[in-house]
Amino acid sequence: MDPFGRHIDYLRISVTDRCNERCLYCMPEGYKGWAQRADHLTADEILRIVENSTALGFRKFRLTGGEPLVRKDIVEIARRIWELPGVQTLGISTNGLLLKELAVPLKQAGVRSVNISLDSLDAAIYQKLTGGRLEIALEGIAAAAAAGFEVVKLNCVLLRGINEDQIVPLARFGATLGMPVRFIELMPLASGGPIHDGHFFSITEAMERLASHDPLELANDKPHGHGPARYYRFRGAHVGFIGSITCADFCKDCNKLRLTADGKLRPCLGRHGEIDLLPALRGETESISHAIHEAIANKPENHSFADDFQVNRPMTAIGG
Ligand code: SAM
Ligand code: SF4
Repeated sequence: MDPFGRHIDYLRISVTDRCNERCLYCMPEGYKGWAQRADHLTADEILRIVENSTALGFRKFRLTGGEPLVRKDIVEIARRIWELPGVQTLGISTNGLLLKELAVPLKQAGVRSVNISLDSLDAAIYQKLTGGRLEIALEGIAAAAAAGFEVVKLNCVLLRGINEDQIVPLARFGATLGMPVRFIELMPLASGGPIHDGHFFSITEAMERLASHDPLELANDKPHGHGPARYYRFRGAHVGFIGSITCADFCKDCNKLRLTADGKLRPCLGRHGEIDLLPALRGETESISHAIHEAIANKPENHSFADDFQVNRPMTAIGG
C-alpha cells in the first residue's frame, strides 16, 4: 500500500527512449536510431527488477518507451518476464509500425494485451502528427488482430485543430474491429515543441462530439480492467476516455510505478521525483526491493500538471 491506501501492483517499463516516429506531442525531435547504450538497462537488469517487484506483490507489467519494438531483444524481454512466477498480465504499448513482423512472436512470448497509438485515419494528418505512414500502422493493427491477443486497444491523443475531426471516424473504426478506442487528454510533456495549450481538447468535448453522432452509454462494469479510462458503450463496442487533466479524481485508483529506460523508478508521471536503481543493480547500495519500497512510499496523492509542471524529461524516457 502507498501512503494513500492504494495497492501498487503495476510496473510500466520503458525499455528504450528511442522511437521510429516523432509525434509532435511527445518527441518531435525524432528518431536517432536505437543502439545499446550504457545508460539503458540491459534485459538482465530489467528482469532482476521485475523479479524483485513480483516478490513485493507486483502482478501487472507493460513494456513501453519510446517505441519498445525498436529494441532488438524485445521479444526475449517479453518472454522472460512472462516466464517469471507471479506475473499475471503482460502488455505492450506501441505505435504499431513493427507489429506486422512482431505481433506473432510477441503473442507467442506471452504478451496478453497490446495498446496501439492511432491518432488519425487520415494519412496526411497521421503523417503530420507522427512522421510515420498510416498504412504501415494499419497493417500493424491488422497483424495484432490476427495474432489473437486477449486485448487490443487503440489510443488517440486529442488535439484541437489537428485531429478533432478524427474522433468520430476513429471510434467507428475501433467499433468495427471490436477494439476499444481510448481518447486521451494532452499532457504537457513536450513543451517547447509545436504543440501548445491551445491544442488542448478535453474528453468532455470529445464525448459531446461523439454523442452528437452516435449514442454513448456509460459502462459501469470496468469492461477493460483496472485503469484510468472511463468506458462507454458505443455501436456495440466500447470507447474509453482518459481525462488526465480534467478529471479531479484521476489519480484516486492509481496502481502503478514507472521504470525509466535508464533505470530510475518514477512514482508519478506528472511529478518529478525519481529513485535511481542503478546503484542497487550494481550492488553498491541497498537492495532493489528497498528502492521499490521507497518509490511506493514516495507516491504522491496526485499529479501536478496543473501546478506549473516543468518538463525535465521527455515522455519517451519516462515511459508513456
Ligand atoms: N511508442 C508507443 C506508443 O506510441 O504507443 C509507446 C510509448 S508512448 C509515449 C505511450 C502513450 O503515450 C501513447 O498512447 C501516446 O499517444 C501517449 N502520449 C505521448 N505523449 C503524450 C502527451 N503529451 N499527452 C498525452 N499522451 C501522450
Ligand atoms: Fe514515439 Fe510513441 Fe512518442 Fe509517438 S507517442 S513519438 S510513437 S514514443
